[in-house]
Amino acid sequence: MRSFRGGVHPPYNKVTQDRPIERVRPPERVVVPLSQHTGAPCEPSVEKGQEVQRGQKLGEAKAFISAPVHTPISGVVKEIAPHPHPVLGEALAVVVEGGGEMEDWPRGEVDPDSLEPEEIRMRVREAGVVGLGGAAFPTAVKLSPPEDKPIDTVILNGCECEPYLTADHRTMLERAEDCILGLRLVMRAVGAERGMIGVEANKPDAMEALRHASDGEVEVVPLKVKYPQGAEKMLIKAVLDREVPTGGLPMDVGVVVQNVGTAVAVAEAVRDGKPLIERVVTVAGEVGRPGNYLVPIGTPFSYLLEVAGGLQEGASQVVMGGPMMGIAQRSLEVPVVKGTSGVLALRALPYEEGNCIRCARCVDHCPMELMPTLFVKFAKGERWDLLERAHIMDCIECGSCAYVCPARIPIVHYIKLGKLKVRSLK
Ligand code: SF4
Ligand code: SF4
Repeated sequence: MRSFRGGVHPPYNKVTQDRPIERVRPPERVVVPLSQHTGAPCEPSVEKGQEVQRGQKLGEAKAFISAPVHTPISGVVKEIAPHPHPVLGEALAVVVEGGGEMEDWPRGEVDPDSLEPEEIRMRVREAGVVGLGGAAFPTAVKLSPPEDKPIDTVILNGCECEPYLTADHRTMLERAEDCILGLRLVMRAVGAERGMIGVEANKPDAMEALRHASDGEVEVVPLKVKYPQGAEKMLIKAVLDREVPTGGLPMDVGVVVQNVGTAVAVAEAVRDGKPLIERVVTVAGEVGRPGNYLVPIGTPFSYLLEVAGGLQEGASQVVMGGPMMGIAQRSLEVPVVKGTSGVLALRALPYEEGNCIRCARCVDHCPMELMPTLFVKFAKGERWDLLERAHIMDCIECGSCAYVCPARIPIVHYIKLGKLKVRSLK
């Protein structure tokens, strides 16, 4: 089975993998942040008191690396003001009050081969599509590689190696045809000849659905079940045996990677003209009704957790994303954003940070072949110059090192701090 060096095997706890995607009735009030993506925040394109229709643009992307945002409900703009944000802490957001049922968006028709690459990019950009795997990088930018970086392969990422999360698994099962259409559109946009889908081997039903939907045109590659198999660089290594160089991007080795959920969003944007106004979110952990929910962007976590049966006794921490790379939240009033793959209610165990015993487990398990123990040492000693020389910027923040550390050192915390310092010194 193809894979990569290092990594870990956390308990997967995929208890929601058999729960079909369930559409959530929209709340009466959504909070749509103007920054939900990597790059520049967008600028408000509506005013307080203005009536808006479902799918209407609320914020316009003025920079190249940016993405517009749209309202998932019809209603009235109540305010444009700073609001709690699940990644940034606080960010400017447009609040829309209205509601109603969330109906299926009307379906269109498209022949991927008849569209020019520029038209695909334009429709994807207008729809505000970003990577739904978590990083939320604007997809239209990924579909615009420079001319000196020819792309021969597009890989869809169906690994979903984070414990608990099953949103991508259900998407592959229930939306296999749209995954394939999205893949073909991305291949057309970047001029790639080959399309592949990497799926961890614990999802044979998803692989079967994708093979069936693609009629053999696309290679579905089973990958070893190991975290972080879904990280872009690990996926490329496993599927194509190519290594992205230090500081480089997948396009440097002729590859574009897209998450399977993003592929569906691309298909909907190009075929149906549907903006990215809802996404599949796994809600799991200490909640009454764990499941996979199709949630309007801007829905407060508190509302979503109520839909999922409410927090159960023992839940002490709510995390956006998976338990390995997710972000613990300070407020449940943060909204679901485009990068929200999961909302987990966890029992956080108290721990005490010990001293490094130089066991090298973190080194053995680091998939990027880095020296995490040195990052901790240099960050504690404020040796930011040495941190950069130790290639801290190559760290993908997967958390494998912290997971295996017997001294319970929050290594990723020190790495994030170190990266911030290195960047600010530059
Ligand atoms: S150093 Fe970075 S890449 Fe390596 S295991 Fe730790 S978090 Fe992952
Ligand atoms: S795993 Fe923890 S204790 Fe072992 S070398 Fe790494 S930082 Fe030190």
